[in-house]
Amino acid sequence: MPFPYEAPVSQTLFDRAAVVTPGGVNSPVRAFGAVGGSPRFMVSGTGPYLTDADGREYVDLVCSWGPMILGHSHPEVLAAVQEAVVRGTSFGTPGEGEVELAERIVDRIDPVEQVRLVSSGTEATMSAIRLARGFTGRTKVVKFAGCYHGHVDALLAAAGSGVATFGLPDTPGVTGAQAGDTIVLPYNDLEAVRAAFAAHPGEIACVITEAAAGNMGVVPPLPGFNQGLKDLCAESGALYISDEVMTGFRVSRTGWYGIDGVRPDLMTFGKVMGGGFPAAAFGGRADVMAHLAPVGPVYQAGTLSGNPVATAAGVAQLKLLDEAAYEKVDAVSEQVRSLVTDALTKAGVAHRLQVAGNMFSFAFTDQDVTDYASAKAQESFRFTAFFHSMLSQGVYLPPSAFESWFVSTAHDERAVERIAAALPSAARAAAEASA
Ligand code: PLP
Repeated sequence: MPFPYEAPVSQTLFDRAAVVTPGGVNSPVRAFGAVGGSPRFMVSGTGPYLTDADGREYVDLVCSWGPMILGHSHPEVLAAVQEAVVRGTSFGTPGEGEVELAERIVDRIDPVEQVRLVSSGTEATMSAIRLARGFTGRTKVVKFAGCYHGHVDALLAAAGSGVATFGLPDTPGVTGAQAGDTIVLPYNDLEAVRAAFAAHPGEIACVITEAAAGNMGVVPPLPGFNQGLKDLCAESGALYISDEVMTGFRVSRTGWYGIDGVRPDLMTFGKVMGGGFPAAAFGGRADVMAHLAPVGPVYQAGTLSGNPVATAAGVAQLKLLDEAAYEKVDAVSEQVRSLVTDALTKAGVAHRLQVAGNMFSFAFTDQDVTDYASAKAQESFRFTAFFHSMLSQGVYLPPSAFESWFVSTAHDERAVERIAAALPSAARAAAEASA
């Protein structure tokens, strides 16, 4: 696979990193393992652009994997962070910023009556399933193949995202006991869920699902799927957990809940709500949340939970995310989607545009993609060629076919024109690629 150009400073940093950090990265997908070549080390971000250590500028279609919905270095978010940071960076006590962030989440998302702040999406889903088990007194958890909920031991069975990228069916280090209570079912297959409830009466604590899947590429729930999950859970006394770490505050003011209206018992959030800092949350029914320590017996804690700088960033970002902001993100998403569709069509590349609100991805196949098996069946070598062509022309895509693309309010005409200009040759590269 020829890589169109070199990035010598990034390469030197990557070589240095590989000595002291496994694979040279702190999160596997960043390593370009799925597409080959060396990752670009970024030094700054402004609006829709990232600049790498070699001084090259890219239109960013990753947006830090979702959080940067206002673009990079938004002046009002930066001002809030600067104002917070001079007052101190961590107190280990309650603070007003965390109350305000929690109030904003509860105000926006109707099913969230109470919320607990944590530092990562992984912590949020881990805590939510512990709470579901503590609340129901049951052990089993249903998840869907291709859905990624962070690197929680029990949820790393048939996970998407980096696990899909690296083709690891499971991961060493997760014991049979940890994974043994996890039932993995095909996404969008309500009959399989019904059968699991019938096979394990009174044993299933919760069903956890991505509100709309974005970690096997984008795969939206089929009409009625989330409602069916909710109904099956309600019938059998299990909790329905909607993981909105990716979709929350991104696909609408009220996340995916605002699109399908299915009311979860518990929800998880991260990414956008932290404004680019480590802040995440889980929340939902007050009677369930009342089982958490210190009011209830289910233990959960965090030294940096509700960190004052992270909450200041999150509050500032949410304040700016009004209906007009979502209209802008939706419009840019639509524009980019249609440009890519046109370019791939003109070049004769079989593809499926996968959309969930303003999240989208392209699957290189002529078959419908509705679950993990159909997502994996695509010709991802075509994505590799497409990715490298775009990168060499200054457009930064997620370095894997199994990831969502993200845009922001900062993606203006100039940024979109640069994407448009890069597309014809990238589409040709995809057409000419071979496995
Ligand atoms: N849940 C979903 C749906 C995600 O997409 C992710 C991360 O991409 C997580 C959970 C884990 O979040 P974090 O990476 O902050 O631990």
